[in-house]
Amino acid sequence: MATLNTDIRYIKGVGEARAKSLAKLGITDLRSLLSYFPRAYDDRRAYKKIADLIPGENACVCAVIAGEPKLSRIRKGLDLIKLRAVDETGALELTYFNQSYLKNTFHTGDAYVFFGRAEGTPSRPQMTNPLFEREGTYQITGRIMPIYPLTAGISQSMLYKAVEQGLAACVDELPDILPENVRLVYQLCHTRFAYENIHFPTDDEALSAARRRLAFEELFLLALGLKLLRERRTFVAGKQCKKVDLSPFFTSLPFSLTGAQRRAIGDIARDLTGQRPMNRLVQGDVGSGKTMVAAAAIYMAAKNGLQCALMAPTEILAEQHYRSLAPLLEPLGIPCALLTASTKAKERRALNERLRSGELSLVIGTHALLSPDVQYQNLGLVVTDEQHRFGVDQRAALSAKGDDPHLLVMSATPIPRTLALMIYGDLDVSILNELPPGRQKIDTFAVPSSYHERIYAFLRKLVAEGRQAYIVCPMVSENDELPDERKAVTAHAEMLQKEVFPDLRIAPIHGKMKPKEKDAVMRAFAAHEIDVLVSTTVIEVGVDVPNAALMLIENAECFGLSQLHQLRGRVGRGQHKSYCVLVSDNKGEENKQRLKVMSSTSDGFAIAEEDLKLRGPGDFFGSRQHGLPSLRVADLSCDLSLLHETQSAAEQLLAADPALKNHPLLKARVELLFELNADAMN
Ligand code: ADP
Ligand code: MG
Repeated sequence: MATLNTDIRYIKGVGEARAKSLAKLGITDLRSLLSYFPRAYDDRRAYKKIADLIPGENACVCAVIAGEPKLSRIRKGLDLIKLRAVDETGALELTYFNQSYLKNTFHTGDAYVFFGRAEGTPSRPQMTNPLFEREGTYQITGRIMPIYPLTAGISQSMLYKAVEQGLAACVDELPDILPENVRLVYQLCHTRFAYENIHFPTDDEALSAARRRLAFEELFLLALGLKLLRERRTFVAGKQCKKVDLSPFFTSLPFSLTGAQRRAIGDIARDLTGQRPMNRLVQGDVGSGKTMVAAAAIYMAAKNGLQCALMAPTEILAEQHYRSLAPLLEPLGIPCALLTASTKAKERRALNERLRSGELSLVIGTHALLSPDVQYQNLGLVVTDEQHRFGVDQRAALSAKGDDPHLLVMSATPIPRTLALMIYGDLDVSILNELPPGRQKIDTFAVPSSYHERIYAFLRKLVAEGRQAYIVCPMVSENDELPDERKAVTAHAEMLQKEVFPDLRIAPIHGKMKPKEKDAVMRAFAAHEIDVLVSTTVIEVGVDVPNAALMLIENAECFGLSQLHQLRGRVGRGQHKSYCVLVSDNKGEENKQRLKVMSSTSDGFAIAEEDLKLRGPGDFFGSRQHGLPSLRVADLSCDLSLLHETQSAAEQLLAADPALKNHPLLKARVELLFELNADAMN
């Protein structure tokens, strides 16, 4: 008897070699075979009479072989079989290449169903290499067939036959992990129906019911996992802080905080004085003032005797934070230090000593801050900046590091609420949806490339006024090769230097440079030793060059809306009027719509919502930046309502059964999903 755990070699036709190929697809046993879902479907249901065939369209034809097949050898390695099949309306000419064995398959008078693309003319229809089977078989014609992602050594027909066998052997063993009441309330089909119809749908309704069920399951597990992760913190004790009077901090600021900043600081104060460790995301557009929110958190933690670490993704960003925070916090009695890879060994030793003794309250630096040789006396708050690559798993790992410090994550990537719900399901979120007063709107223009001369003249005028500019150039690929970033950027910078701006200081920057080289270029740009910085999208996030007043983006159609918005945020950071110019010759409706959105709003959240609508969530999910398991069935661009349903279903279930004690199957699946250890979930 085969079970879900039976090895894939159980399947007829699967031996050592095929088992190896299948393993590449993640198929090792019957369970993984049944969970290997089609990427698309081939609808072979349309039956046509021969006289009704439409050239260019796929169809099934029931026809009788009207003469023995003729084999002809065109040349070495190329032979073909021609035969005729007829129904009561006409004759169909069939051609098969390099399948000479078919000569002995087809016999006059036999009835077959052929499926393929009609060719020729309506009066002389033909098909080339059509699929065929005996009339009345219905295995590969007359139905909707799955199309699976393949790998070398594995064919579609091999795979669907395997799945068919697998389903026949153990579809009834697939456990229904959804509680019956959830299944009923949300009108979901049974597991068996779902698996049978995701592979071999009987019709469109069955397929959408199967999809809905499996997508629901997927999102439901994810929602449960993230909620449990969040709940888990209820059970660890945080370093509970006493309430701190923030007025010395507020009065030492050169400006008053925005309402959004105050609200975020209020959220943080509540977290810090609560019993569990803080786990909060502060999300806000570029320039919304996240650093000051972090500073307030640091102030409160430090005044409670906790040490704080502020992590930035690059050295230059760490330095920037140090330069703005140390002068603010040190006079308030919070000793600060900077620790990066460039910190000299002697200095580093001294700094480590001061950290160990507890003398230092705040250390700002890169990832190095968490390396084992850096020891804290009492690390109580970890702030990470611009860390949207900081995944769920890493956050979990960090909290599990032992002393459960408070965690504050700052992100400048606006994410639609619906997605934030998923991605940051284990975090509490504060949103800075308000920019400090007096910010100038960045004028945004979309123009065709015929405007280059005018744009360059405009750039020249700005530089003459003492401003600087960014030029983002596209990644061009030659001859279908992977686009070479270094080549694209250096070539574009060279062209500009030679042909357009021989008198300006132009420098390229790209992701292939070593971090040190990149830092050096960014530093030179910040010091105004460079007028125009040419790059791809890898312009260091968050680096503040207030003197930069123009962002010129070539081939704007190549970028997502959120990306364009991020790039635009590099300018308008000082008192100078700033501009963003989007160059695109793409006349497509979608592109026009995108550029219109960019020119009409500067609200990062609105743009993110629009991005989601236009492009789907591939950007957010596909890249797996967030450490979330990838989704196989659910498609968030159309399944948003499903996402909400799964959220509330998960909430209700956890309210009734907080640790899933009564739902062991579900619990096991959630644990598997996040590879959480069992005691973390208890
Ligand atoms: P981001 O959210 O992009 O990290 P920053 O924290 O770097 O933004 O702040 C951007 C700039 O705005 C900084 O120069 C900062 O000093 C200034 N700033 C922050 N909050 C305010 C405020 N409430 N009023 C005026 N300027 C502010
Ligand atoms: Mg910042």
